[in-house]
Amino acid sequence: MLQSKVALVTGSTSGIGLAIAESLAEQGCHLMLNGFGDDKEIAELRNRLSREHNVEVGYCAADVSSAEQVHQMIEETQKLLGSVDVLVNNAGVQHVEEIETFPVEQWDRIIAVNLSSAFHTIQATLPLMKAKGWGRIVNVASIHGLVASPYKSAYVAAKHGVVGLTKTVALETARQGVTCNAICPGYVLTPLVENQISDTARARGLSEQEVMSEVLLGSQPSGRFTDVKDIAAMATFLCGGAGNNITGSVQVLDGGYTAA
Ligand code: NAD
Repeated sequence: MLQSKVALVTGSTSGIGLAIAESLAEQGCHLMLNGFGDDKEIAELRNRLSREHNVEVGYCAADVSSAEQVHQMIEETQKLLGSVDVLVNNAGVQHVEEIETFPVEQWDRIIAVNLSSAFHTIQATLPLMKAKGWGRIVNVASIHGLVASPYKSAYVAAKHGVVGLTKTVALETARQGVTCNAICPGYVLTPLVENQISDTARARGLSEQEVMSEVLLGSQPSGRFTDVKDIAAMATFLCGGAGNNITGSVQVLDGGYTAA
């Protein structure tokens, strides 16, 4: 079903987004990669994915917090690959600090990258999907789209917003061959999590080792991180044939975090 479809994955130069992009390429999707990184490494990544999966792989450096750059990226994808059939909103950033001193610029950045970007990409791609009567939208939210943690006000607010946006888009597209679902991972060991360990240690008065064992793994009853490949497999499942009538859903991959 995914053979020769075109997938745009935001934030796919690293972590979860890269794993999702690779999984979709394995199914035969042509890719538009997005995100920041070293030019040479990104060029090598494009070559590798293209060679190993026999698909076209484009790259756009758009900053998804800019509506204008998002619209340009969709146009570029159309020009290079023909359309956008699968949209994965994955780009995300984090800042950990108590609310009273939480910098306004960080609040604005996190809301723009983690939430508003999905509004812009969906608004720009839905007409293409509706025209074909087929489309798949997967929004990478978080368990923080369902429950809160202290010191993550902007991230928790943005991710709750992503879950709400997902449900709204699902209802608006329910009879148009388009599905829209959210994936809510628990902790996954990617640069996004590694980079917040020192801030969390400072905010909670713990050592970095204590943050790892008590805050991160301590909150996941399974005692282990979720693997990027498991998240990628879920995203690909939602985009494939079995996902035909799954829409507006929230898929939780959290080792039991939200069950406790
Ligand atoms: P990561 O830091 O490895 O990757 C983030 C990606 O987003 C990178 O490719 C980066 O270049 C890109 N990016 C950041 N700002 C951008 C911008 N303004 N425009 C375009 N691209 C931008 O992080 P990750 O852990 O793979 O996170 C991916 C998504 O998964 C995020 O939405 C994150 O909130 C979510 N998530 C992560 C975890 C976790 O534990 N790692 C848990 C739940 C949800």
